[in-house]
Amino acid sequence: MAQDLRTFLEQIRSGAPEEYEVVDREIDPKFEITALTENLEAARRRPVLELRGVKGTDFTVVTNVFAKRSRLAFALGTDVKGAAAEFDRRGRNPVPPEEVGAGPVKEVVETGDAVDLLRLPQIHHHATDAGPYITGAMAVTRDPETGDLNASFNRLMIKGPRKTGIHLTLAKHHWEFYRKAERRGEALPIALVLGLHPLWALGTLHVGAADEDELSVIGGLLQEPLEVVRGETVDIPVPARAEIVIEGEIPPGVREPEGPFSEFTGYSLGERMREVVEVKAVTRRKDALFHDINVAHADHMVLSTIPMEANLLKAVRAAVPSTRAVRIPAPFTAYLSIEKRIEGQSMNALLAAFGSELYLKRVVVVDHDVDVFNDFRVQWAIGTRCQPHRDLLIIPNARGSDLDPSSEPDGFTSKVGVDATAKPTLAEFAIRNQIPPEVMERVRPEDFLGGSGG
Ligand code: MN
Repeated sequence: MAQDLRTFLEQIRSGAPEEYEVVDREIDPKFEITALTENLEAARRRPVLELRGVKGTDFTVVTNVFAKRSRLAFALGTDVKGAAAEFDRRGRNPVPPEEVGAGPVKEVVETGDAVDLLRLPQIHHHATDAGPYITGAMAVTRDPETGDLNASFNRLMIKGPRKTGIHLTLAKHHWEFYRKAERRGEALPIALVLGLHPLWALGTLHVGAADEDELSVIGGLLQEPLEVVRGETVDIPVPARAEIVIEGEIPPGVREPEGPFSEFTGYSLGERMREVVEVKAVTRRKDALFHDINVAHADHMVLSTIPMEANLLKAVRAAVPSTRAVRIPAPFTAYLSIEKRIEGQSMNALLAAFGSELYLKRVVVVDHDVDVFNDFRVQWAIGTRCQPHRDLLIIPNARGSDLDPSSEPDGFTSKVGVDATAKPTLAEFAIRNQIPPEVMERVRPEDFLGGSGG
């Protein structure tokens, strides 16, 4: 069965109703949606939010869909700890998209002057944002020379009824395609897809070469072809079961102010001159849901880590085959666990991690008995297995993220590796507290405390 956002929302609604909240009362898209999410997170709740009363628009907003790792793991048919490995496994078997004649995304077709982006929800996420932003769009373009397709997330600042600003990440694939088009004096056609099944979103974030087509990676993750239809005004296939598709082009030689915008780092980043999208058409379902990703909150952070972890797992395993797990717990930070078979492998793991991912600034490697999903345990390992004079690796004068506000200038940074493995090996290190396993097995709280054991 074709999987789309609605089939996924229905699975959550029926399978985990406590994780799905329908809000009928009026809510202001200016900061109130973000405030609701933030206050829910403070109360340790991350439900999908279906907001039917968003002021100034007829569209229902869906947000926070990706805010729990367990929901993404469910979409991958696995559990929280297995998500990165399963993403890697499925991503290795791409399935090309399949063109179908028609799809719900064509129920309404608006072109030319009929297009009005100001009818969409005008969501301001944070106080210093330059304007309303569309944050959940999968942007699809073609390499103007080879025709290869590329998809990625790009933030879109709504600038008028038929214009948005766009942030093309420096030196990445869309940026490269646009540079090629611009050198020929041509515009780069683009399709912006809203209403993404979690596996569409995860596939969009797949880390690969420019000629690796994310739409086929999505098919691999779905284990069935993504059904696509042709754009109305652009030669780009778009998912037939999307909620909304915005079609347009990025004209050559045009730059306008974009930003500031509050980013995943937790900081608002300054205005720069950036490219724009001139919108030619909008196609959508009749009762289209407007899918927002709540920037810099769990919705954004949880989604983006799984594909990065999968890439890291592959790279570190190439250097240290007995790598057990990786996790990205915070911006620019990774935890690795390895089963160290011989001295020195912990340093090789650190070097592989830094070599594979430009963004990493701080990497901690621990032994396989430490659960990288347990922050206390990782800190415990640093506290009890690491000697700073011996076990810290400082790399000066490297490239990092230009979104790191502590780097200067933009993205010029040092990096630190922390070897928190037991030396020389875990087997020869101090013995951990242990309770005889047969006693652990025998002493069940319910037998001692009665009732529920609570
Ligand atoms: Mn790509």
